[in-house]
Amino acid sequence: MYIGIDIGGSHIGIGLFDQKKNLIQKIVKPFDPLKGKENLVKMLIKELKKFSNIESIGIGVPGIVKDDLWVKANYLQISNYPIVKELQKEIKVPIFLENDSNCAGVGYLILNPEIKFGVFLTIGSGIGGAILFHGNVFSRNNDCIAEFGHLTYQENGRLCSCKRKGCYSQYASMKALRTNIARRKNCSHLQNEDVLSLLKQKDEIALEEFQKQNEILQKLIGNLANILSPQKIILGGSFSYFKEFVPLSFYENKEHWYNRDSDCKIEITDFGNDLGLLGSAFQKDYIRRV
Ligand SMILES: [Zn+2]
Repeated sequence: MYIGIDIGGSHIGIGLFDQKKNLIQKIVKPFDPLKGKENLVKMLIKELKKFSNIESIGIGVPGIVKDDLWVKANYLQISNYPIVKELQKEIKVPIFLENDSNCAGVGYLILNPEIKFGVFLTIGSGIGGAILFHGNVFSRNNDCIAEFGHLTYQENGRLCSCKRKGCYSQYASMKALRTNIARRKNCSHLQNEDVLSLLKQKDEIALEEFQKQNEILQKLIGNLANILSPQKIILGGSFSYFKEFVPLSFYENKEHWYNRDSDCKIEITDFGNDLGLLGSAFQKDYIRRV
């Protein structure tokens, strides 16, 4: 059995997989980053001890990794944190560590092995990315790669967790969508489920904000197509739970593309955050760290 762990901005997912990469069991736990990294490790150890016959564990974390060190994450006070060593004090199996969006890209690659060149966007609390090329997902040791959510959308715009201003993440992530709707509705906090039910009820504010998010994403997709021209640009993360509300024009509109006749396809995955679990679990066979 193999375990994949996906450490997100508000939740932690733990997936148990068999040798054929089938998801056998999934646990999702709320996670408060303000409680600190020691608390996170304690919680993971407690959960991991419930499993037996584990071959290996793979973890996907936001931010930058170097070998088995978690170098940096914007939302936790992480600085070269030896998360693998800390876990291995109690959990005696091989543990692998990689950036979470790269892991989601691996998950997609496992389910779609025919893809030769793809760009994967994880749209959740922020926006991350991965580059898929001939059976591998590229990664950088002690550096970041494919951080598409931190391209600039608006000069001097909203302050981002990366301390820059105007990043796409602050306008087109699920967190940005929730915040924008909550602000207009004068409520303090909305979950994805709340937004989903607002959209189902055809709530005007929610529909308008969702359309705005879609338009900003199209711009980002156009930029990526212009830089990389992959066969496919795939959108994943919790955005994929909203797939049914995305209009056909989203896939077809290429007004931001240099080559409007490009055969690059836009796809929204059906597997949501499970791709992150799958890719985390089997990362070592797919990640190409350069
Ligand atoms: Zn940023």
